Parts: sequence; C-alpha cells; structure tokens
Amino acid sequence: MSDSNHLEQIPELPNMIEIWQATLDWQPDRQQQQRFQRVYTEILKGNRLQNLTRISAPEAFWEKHLWDSLSGTIGIDTDRPCKAIDLGTGAGFPGIPLAIAYPHWQITLLDSTRKKIAFIETLISKLNLQNVKTIADRAETIGQQPNLRETYDLATIRAVSKASVCAEYALPLVKIGGLAILYRGSWSDTDTLEIESVAAQLGGKLEAVYPLETPLTKSIRHCIYLRKHFPTKKQFPRAIGIPDRQPLQTA
Ligand code: SAH
Repeated sequence: MSDSNHLEQIPELPNMIEIWQATLDWQPDRQQQQRFQRVYTEILKGNRLQNLTRISAPEAFWEKHLWDSLSGTIGIDTDRPCKAIDLGTGAGFPGIPLAIAYPHWQITLLDSTRKKIAFIETLISKLNLQNVKTIADRAETIGQQPNLRETYDLATIRAVSKASVCAEYALPLVKIGGLAILYRGSWSDTDTLEIESVAAQLGGKLEAVYPLETPLTKSIRHCIYLRKHFPTKKQFPRAIGIPDRQPLQTA
C-alpha cells in the first residue's frame, strides 16, 4: 500500500517562492498557493479510489507535477490570453497548474478515461476554477471534429505517448500560427530529426527544443515547440489507435 492510501493528514506543500522566481520568473500569489495545496490534497485523497499519481511526497509533487507543468511555457508570452487544450491530462497535468497560474487563459482538459475526467470535474469545482472545461474523449476523435479542429492557440501534451504520436494528436487541433508543446524527458538529435519530419507532415515546424533541469532532483526535461504553419491534411489524426500502433516516421 502506498503512503497516500492511509494518510490521515495530508502534508503541506513547500512554498518554493525563491525557486519559482529564479527558474520561471514567476511566483504564485496566496490564492494560487492555496489552490496548489488543494490540488495536492484532493489528488492524494483521490488516489485512494483510483490510480491518479505515484508521486505523493510533497517536494516530489511540487517538482514533478507543479513546477514541471509550468516550466513547459518557458518560451511563450504567458500574459496574453490563450485558448489551450491539454491532451491526455490524467489527473490534470499540465493543464490544472496552467489554469491556476494563468487565470486569463481558457483551458480544455481532455482525457479518454471517464473516471479521470469525473475526478477533474469535482476538483475544478472545489477549486472554483472558472477557466477550465473538460472533455472525455480520444484525441483522434476530437481532432476530426470541425468545431474543435484548428481552434486552439496552444495544445500541451505530457506523458501520453511517443513524441511523433503526440504531434499527431496535437497539431490538428492547433490554429494556423498556434503552438503544440510536447513535454518530454530525455531528447536526442535523432528525436529532433524525426520530429522535424513528422511535424512537416502535419503542417507544423519544429520551432524550439528547450532543455530544462528540474530544480530539486536535477532531472532532465525537454520542451518541444511545434509551430503550425499550414492546415493539417484531412487524414490526420488517423482513426483511433492507429497513431499509437503505427507512429508517423521520418518521411
Ligand atoms: N498528462 C498527465 C497524464 C499522463 S498518463 C501527466 O503527465 O501526469 C496518460 C493519459 O493519457 C491517461 O490518463 C490516458 O487515459 C490518456 N490518453 C492516452 N491516450 C489518449 C488519447 N488518444 N486520447 C485521449 N487521452 C488519452
């Protein structure tokens, strides 16, 4: 049994104000801090009923979920309003921390698992977050819906599949001029070559690869920015399960 299954009292998250400021040039205000704590509390409680995360220690949760979620936007002007979608959000990452940090953004959280979306709906009402919507569906399905396809300024995707699969889920949903951000761990030159080709097949272009180090455990992260320049061909995303089983490759 993991710690969270029999926790009577859920510990406090560290504030980490100096680290937020030094690494991301941002710091949470009191309400944002309280919301982060509530997210932590509700996820640990929710873990007793469904598997939401294996990360339960307060420092690890802060680093691997909160800090990691916000570090992905390092290269963009976050002050501007943004219509965003977080694909395969799971327990709400990176979407929930982004919605807390950027209240002027509108964020849709998508997951194919109904139970996770049900958890998130309860969570956003407890947090009283007004700028979040949810959809329980597959990325392949909504990517072909005319009311959603090519309507987002930003699509984020973390820990869902291979990078090329994530690109096929994300780029069809992004507007021309918009951005897909792939949250990745390690990244190689071969990965760069492959994603350049795959992005081009989907109407996008690799704009930047940001290497990052997480502030506490010094783990390696890379944020991959794909800018959409052309409409995505109608055939993408392919039918449910195909992107994952036959990932796009270097052309
Ligand atoms: N992004 C979260 C969760 C990662 S786990 C995090 O980083 O913590 C991957 C999640 O993606 C699971 O909740 C799974 O249900 C969802 N998922 C996988 N494939 C999907 C698809 N094709 N469409 C929608 N959701 C998907």
